[in-house]
Amino acid sequence: MKPDRRILLIGAVVITASAIIMGLREDRRPEKSGGACCALFANPVATPLLAETSMPGNGGSVAATATTDRFFPDWAAQAKFNQPVRVRDTESAVGRLSAESKEIGLKDLARMHGHLCDGLVISFVELKAALLRLFPDGVVDRTDLRVVSKNGPCWVDTAAWLTGARINFQTLRVDAAVGDGFIIQKISTGETWEVRLKAGVFPEPQAALENRIRDLRAAGQPVNASDVDRFEAMANDLIRHLLNTPPSELLVLTARPAYRFQFNDLYGGRGDIINRDLQPLPAATNHN
Ligand SMILES: [Zn+2]
Repeated sequence: MKPDRRILLIGAVVITASAIIMGLREDRRPEKSGGACCALFANPVATPLLAETSMPGNGGSVAATATTDRFFPDWAAQAKFNQPVRVRDTESAVGRLSAESKEIGLKDLARMHGHLCDGLVISFVELKAALLRLFPDGVVDRTDLRVVSKNGPCWVDTAAWLTGARINFQTLRVDAAVGDGFIIQKISTGETWEVRLKAGVFPEPQAALENRIRDLRAAGQPVNASDVDRFEAMANDLIRHLLNTPPSELLVLTARPAYRFQFNDLYGGRGDIINRDLQPLPAATNHN
């Protein structure tokens, strides 16, 4: 090979390797991306990695595709209070707690849940606020949490994916009694918070329309397509409100000291035998 060709080849290898390294650095970077440095490289390997990094307000991932993902519209991605949650997990199936953190955003939740709905956003807003009470430094240890959620698909999905609590770990209790809120406990300290929406935040007309649609379907009756459209418009209005309003105006957070987390009520100790072997009082002193 001619010397000038060799120089060109070496140069190409160095540029490609630099681009890959810069891309990997970008992917591992714990804080928000400015991203300008990597724009210098046109390498196709580096570009997708850059696109996956977080941008302020994008909800946690895939900023470059925000405008093309219909399941997560721009008005949600760019909402003022749509910031992701920073979390820590273990490093492998048998690994230690990672020293590095990652972001879980609303878009991540919507992608896995299947749609962006008001239940998902209520859950996201509520849980995020409670998590920040439990982890004031802003980095949530997802190995140290237990949660109580009602049995709604949007609610349970958000609870599991955002906090790491799971039914199969017996750290996620599904209990209708908790209603449209959550109880969340830091296992290591027992610190517990209950979080729910303030009265009046959830619009009554939306609740009434949703109930009517569900009642009709439960009765085997058809529903009006325009009613579904109207419901979805109402839900999107609520989502806009939730993501553009300071959490302090939306939420009630209540400390639950000495809260005793119980995974479920199906199994338990037998309470009717605790005095089985207690001796009766002598007849003379028994006034019963
Ligand atoms: Zn949903």
